Amino acid sequence: MDVNGGFTLSEYILRNGPNSQPCGRHWADNIEAVLLELKNLSVEFPASPRPLLAVRDISFAIGKGEVLGLVGESGSGKSVTSLAIMRLLPPQAIVRGEVRFASNNAPQNLLSLSPEQMRLLRGSRISMIFQEPMTALNPVMRVGEQVAEAVRAHNRISKRESLERAIESLREVAIPDPERRARDYPHQLSGGMRQRVMIAMAIVNRPELLIADEPTTALDVTIQAQILDLLADLRQKFGLTMLFISHDLAVVSKVADRVAVMYAGSLIELGSKEDIFRAPAHPYTRGLLKAAPTLKTERDHPLRTIEGTVPSLQSVPAGCAFEPRCELSIAACAASLPALAEISPGHWARCPVTNPAAAL
Ligand code: ADP
Ligand code: MG
Repeated sequence: MDVNGGFTLSEYILRNGPNSQPCGRHWADNIEAVLLELKNLSVEFPASPRPLLAVRDISFAIGKGEVLGLVGESGSGKSVTSLAIMRLLPPQAIVRGEVRFASNNAPQNLLSLSPEQMRLLRGSRISMIFQEPMTALNPVMRVGEQVAEAVRAHNRISKRESLERAIESLREVAIPDPERRARDYPHQLSGGMRQRVMIAMAIVNRPELLIADEPTTALDVTIQAQILDLLADLRQKFGLTMLFISHDLAVVSKVADRVAVMYAGSLIELGSKEDIFRAPAHPYTRGLLKAAPTLKTERDHPLRTIEGTVPSLQSVPAGCAFEPRCELSIAACAASLPALAEISPGHWARCPVTNPAAAL
């Protein structure tokens, strides 16, 4: 450790233990059939003067058919978490822990699969949509052909048949006149239509898990609402399980059943949507809720924001990373990382002040 309180990942794990969950109840206890489970996932990027800890010892599970919302402000490690699940991080990233995926009821740790096994899963059993569809689509290829290519990557079928399936998928995401639209290039479509094409590509092989990383952030509010409705429809229709990532709690509240809150790479609260919105337990979650505009927000009163800034990921405080910004902090908060402890069945928070069980 140095004077700034910076830790390398191994020092951090040594200090806080490889598993910050207390014994007894488990974070997946009240989930019936778990499809995805992260166990103590950590991601470190080599950097100077010391490594950057982007994701720290995160554990959560998603049940089949469930939507888990992952929220946290920009830089909190949401995208790195999703890329770790997909095994799409750059090779220098050091990934520890387990990502258990129960495809066809046969759980396997994605982190120990070969690149070829992973390639077979990606785009078929698990798929992902990103914030900016323009960068994910090939600008010089017709959109129907791009979706058809995703079909052929996982199925031995003719070009014609794959194009038919692609058009069917464009219809499923409510693109009007899909036969004609399939012949368009990405630049001929609006932002909302391009995101629909990305979703069509993601669901065309009927994945079990869809990871949506800020899928509506680049869109204006009306289009955003339409895309959220579409995702809700597809979930019903295909029984999709979703990891839905957003910096915006209001967006998450529209689609998620449960919510996980990240702060500076750590999971600080996890619970049902009702737990998080009605009885938020971590002071950071409470701050996020106060900072979110609602219909009742009065125009004359400025929105409250959380004082201070997120700590640098290269100098992780020894204790709770939110402690320097927290109005409720006590000495124990800075001394060591509080445990993520259960408050009520399925509702967990990492705060020794609002959740005394976290101090154990
Ligand atoms: P979020 O999605 O929550 O906004 P990210 O997961 O993208 O945040 O990033 C978390 C942290 O990891 C950030 O500090 C970011 O700069 C860092 N990071 C992400 N990717 C890399 C990378 N390839 N190399 C080094 N640092 C990275
Ligand atoms: Mg991100």
